[in-house]
Amino acid sequence: MKKVVQVGKIKVGEDAPVSVQSMLNCSSSDFNACSEQIKRLKSAGCDIIRLAISDDNDIECAKMLIKEFADVPLVADIQFDYRLAVKCGEIGFSKVRINPGNIGGEDKVRLVADACRANGVAIRVGVNGGSIEKELESKYGSGAKALSESALKGVALLERFGFYDIVVSAKSSSVMTTIETYRLINKQCDYPLHIGVTESGGEGMGNIKSAIGIGTLLADGIGNTIRVSLTGDPVKEVYAAVDILKALNLRDYCEVVSCPTCSRCHYDMPKLASEIGELVKGVEKRLKIAVMGCVVNGPGEAKDADIGIAGGSEKAVIFEKGKITANLPFDKAVAEFKQKVGRLIADVC
Ligand code: SF4
Repeated sequence: MKKVVQVGKIKVGEDAPVSVQSMLNCSSSDFNACSEQIKRLKSAGCDIIRLAISDDNDIECAKMLIKEFADVPLVADIQFDYRLAVKCGEIGFSKVRINPGNIGGEDKVRLVADACRANGVAIRVGVNGGSIEKELESKYGSGAKALSESALKGVALLERFGFYDIVVSAKSSSVMTTIETYRLINKQCDYPLHIGVTESGGEGMGNIKSAIGIGTLLADGIGNTIRVSLTGDPVKEVYAAVDILKALNLRDYCEVVSCPTCSRCHYDMPKLASEIGELVKGVEKRLKIAVMGCVVNGPGEAKDADIGIAGGSEKAVIFEKGKITANLPFDKAVAEFKQKVGRLIADVC
């Protein structure tokens, strides 16, 4: 069991739900642009939001954002400049992300740790494939061993300064290296892990790499907070992250299962599946609804569904928890099915 770290109102670690993170990609000194993205990320289901802090203009804007969005934990992402990290520890951020190996020396890390400790701010030790400590890279190359050691060295340094509210990440753009790295870290430390595949690309391959990397680790019980890194609108990262959690039963939702169709399907099943998907969108209860292409295989294949429909050429059957409960002309069956789905949702919500 991992230690728990408080990040604003969100607990990360122990048996707390796996939280979803994303990062702003607009200018961190543009208050309006940041506000708009934060609102969109929040409504998409993002629990923790990070922004890069690169200068004092960003700091001034961050102060206003922290005031405006007191209900969402904001995280400062710092590269190299310890003075900015210290300021971020003092102005109300919930967490500061640094790579202790590139913040300018141990004495600087101590100053950041002191500022964060004094203000109840967590620190994420965040190492990426591109920022492994030189010494470790020449010893182990750029793989999992170097990444994990680099992150653990940063953790040990913070501990030396009496700082323990630590979250750890060590990401690679390689799925296999990411998985191997986190497995190594998981064996060696009790701090909560922020997991993700970095620079995974755009939608499509980026979603697949993230789903495999994050999903494999979560299925093994590794990972307490996740970020899907995609090129483009960060809101899409949140949709993908939430879907990964749903697929692993780590978030309750109404699942719509539908078959791929084949020549036995004689109705516009993709259209009905998409209509049912819209009907149940946003339902946060564990339900399973099946839309199947034919009566030959449909009811049997989806017998564990709470309710399902399987179409024939003129008629369709409705089945509930494995039992056929109606056999009606097709249009009537579809109308009846939609009504029943509506009632089922109303009952559980
Ligand atoms: S449920 Fe029927 S239509 Fe769908 S793939 Fe299976 S056999 Fe084909």
